[in-house]
Formats: sequence, structure tokens, C-alpha cells
Amino acid sequence: MPAPKKTSGAVSVESAREQLKAAALRCTPSRIAILRLLSQSDQPLSHSDVAERLRESGFDPSTAYRALIELADTGLLIRLDIGDQIRRYEFKHVTPKTAATGKRAHDDREHPHFVCLDCGHVTCLTDVTVQLPKSRAVGKVTEILLRGHCVNCL
Ligand SMILES: [Zn+2]
Ligand SMILES: [Zn+2]
Repeated sequence: MPAPKKTSGAVSVESAREQLKAAALRCTPSRIAILRLLSQSDQPLSHSDVAERLRESGFDPSTAYRALIELADTGLLIRLDIGDQIRRYEFKHVTPKTAATGKRAHDDREHPHFVCLDCGHVTCLTDVTVQLPKSRAVGKVTEILLRGHCVNCL
């Protein structure tokens, strides 16, 4: 298993604790470890990705699984469903409190994803903005996916 590409950008233990408190969750070591792991990942991670990395720190897979569900249920993580039966999770980056409204403007980084048809790798396209076409047929868009062949598979 290769190490995550980016190691910068991980939330501190302190800010992970603050997020958990704000979501009324207890600050357990597994929840903190997951928030930190996902906040530094530049791609969504599946349950088995998370379990594997947490195992190295001594957590068992069922603990990791439970913590993932709880964090996603309270909105600290985003669940990603790209239709391949693999549930992936990503960290929900939160913009700092704005002085004007006093509210947190949640997630400034909603973004499309790119899926490679050959290797299944999912990439976050955080620098891409997509203008949704207005259509009466569309109820609610949950995911914007681009499919193709990644640079490694071309
Ligand atoms: Zn590929
Ligand atoms: Zn993403």
C-alpha cells in the first residue's frame, strides 16, 4: 500500500477534537485518527483503505467501520457513491467562521470526481467547477462524475 501522496493539509488533533465536539461526538482515538487520515488524503478512501491504514496504528477494522459511519452520519465526512458498490469517504473541509454571519459556510470544496475505467482510481477534481444545466427532469444531483482513462492507464 503506497503512502498517501500528500502529507500536508492534515487537520491537527486539536481541530479534529473541535470538530467532534461541535458534532456532539466523543473524541475517541479512532475518530480523531480517521479525520486526520482523510483530511490529508487527496482522494476518497474506501472502508478497506481506511481500515488498512488504521490497523497500522492498532485499530481493528470494525472500530474503523463504526467510526466511519458515525462521522458520515453527523456530516463530518462525505459519503461518495459512484455506483461501483464501493462506499468511499472524504473529509468535509469547513471554511472558517465568517465574521459577517457568524455561521460556518459549510464545505467550500464540493467538486466533481474522475473515475478511471481501467483501474477504478477515483480522483477529486477540486479545481474544477461545473455549471449544472437546468432541467426539470433532474430531482437532486448527488454526484458529478467524469469517466475516462487516467494518466497511468493511457
Ligand atoms: Zn487508471
Ligand atoms: Zn473528492
